[in-house]
Amino acid sequence: MLTHKIVLLSGDGIGPEISEVSKKILLKLSDKFNFNIEIEEELFGGIAFEKFEDPAPKSTLDKCKSCDAVLLACVGDSKYDQLPRELRPESGLLKLRSDLNLFANIRPVKIRNSLIESSSLKKEVIQNVDLVVVRELTSGIYFGEPRGIIKNKNKERAFNTMVYNTDEIERITEIAIQIAKKRNNRICSVDKANVLEVSQLWRKTVENMAKNYKEIHLSNMYVDNAAMQLIRDPSQFDVILTNNIFGDILSDLAAMLTGSIGMLPSASLNNIGPGVFEPVHGSAPDIAGRNIANPIAMALSTAMLLRIGLNQIQAADNLELAIDKVLSKRFRTSDLDDGKSEIISCSKMGEKILEEI
Ligand code: NAD
Repeated sequence: MLTHKIVLLSGDGIGPEISEVSKKILLKLSDKFNFNIEIEEELFGGIAFEKFEDPAPKSTLDKCKSCDAVLLACVGDSKYDQLPRELRPESGLLKLRSDLNLFANIRPVKIRNSLIESSSLKKEVIQNVDLVVVRELTSGIYFGEPRGIIKNKNKERAFNTMVYNTDEIERITEIAIQIAKKRNNRICSVDKANVLEVSQLWRKTVENMAKNYKEIHLSNMYVDNAAMQLIRDPSQFDVILTNNIFGDILSDLAAMLTGSIGMLPSASLNNIGPGVFEPVHGSAPDIAGRNIANPIAMALSTAMLLRIGLNQIQAADNLELAIDKVLSKRFRTSDLDDGKSEIISCSKMGEKILEEI
């Protein structure tokens, strides 16, 4: 029987609560679809800092590099905000992404019919939304050098560098093109080419790449307009291709179209090694430990792991269907409260999904 090795990083905040749900889901699906799954749990984020004074310990990174796929919940807490930057949980996340060379972050945003009323936008605006944000993940302003804070006598000066080279833009564009070819062949590249040189190189490179694919329809949009269009008419988008920081912001915005950030999965991939599958949301310290978090973003990330990371397509389909069934029976966690549904806990939501698998 085929055996898949998964590393599970539960991380901080609501991480352990939502991870528990996904662990049970993986075990049930492996039973149903006849494959073995070995889940190794490793410390990562704030909890790893507590034990090893390192948010991304080498032992954890080594395990991640040698498994088939990594399932990550979330990291972070304000109690670590005073630590030097390299010791904060979020730096561990950046280290994981760069060590595994995860340059492509894929974030599908699809409106589930059962959740149309949970969105803060009107039904007519969101009902046909089905888009994917392809975000560059290992370069741009989050990694650019030089960076720092300079302290002078009376004032401080802080700076970061947004930098891309042609290769980095080409490889993420290639991923967006391949995704668009399996969808509707439309890519909207989002930049700020009217102001930033780095965006001018981005635009030129994307346009050059797209010329090689006659079937691809490429458009360009400034990031400020893209933010507006995502609220005004989100169904105009098919694949949104963008850099690290713009993708970070736009994908959270797109998350709210679906009703809650607790619904949005993502995959971070490279060309060869294991991918990292993780919800878009953070560790939600404000609700941690109360068993009220929505475990669906992590469960949908688990479905992406099964589909993309392990090629277990039937198991992935089954899980997504199970989630749809639970939602259409009007069970919700409190973040999706529409006043007409039964509000259940995180663990109960897990049980309901397991019942439908
Ligand atoms: P957040 O995503 O953790 O929370 C934003 C809001 O959404 C909060 O009100 C929270 O309660 C709610 N929320 C998030 N996930 C939810 C879920 N599954 N179910 C129900 N409600 C949910 O973002 P934040 O508050 O800006 O950040 C909190 C911490 O998480 C910070 O330390 C931040 O650095 C970190 N963070 C980590 C990641 C990651 O691990 N990938 C991503 C973003 C933020």
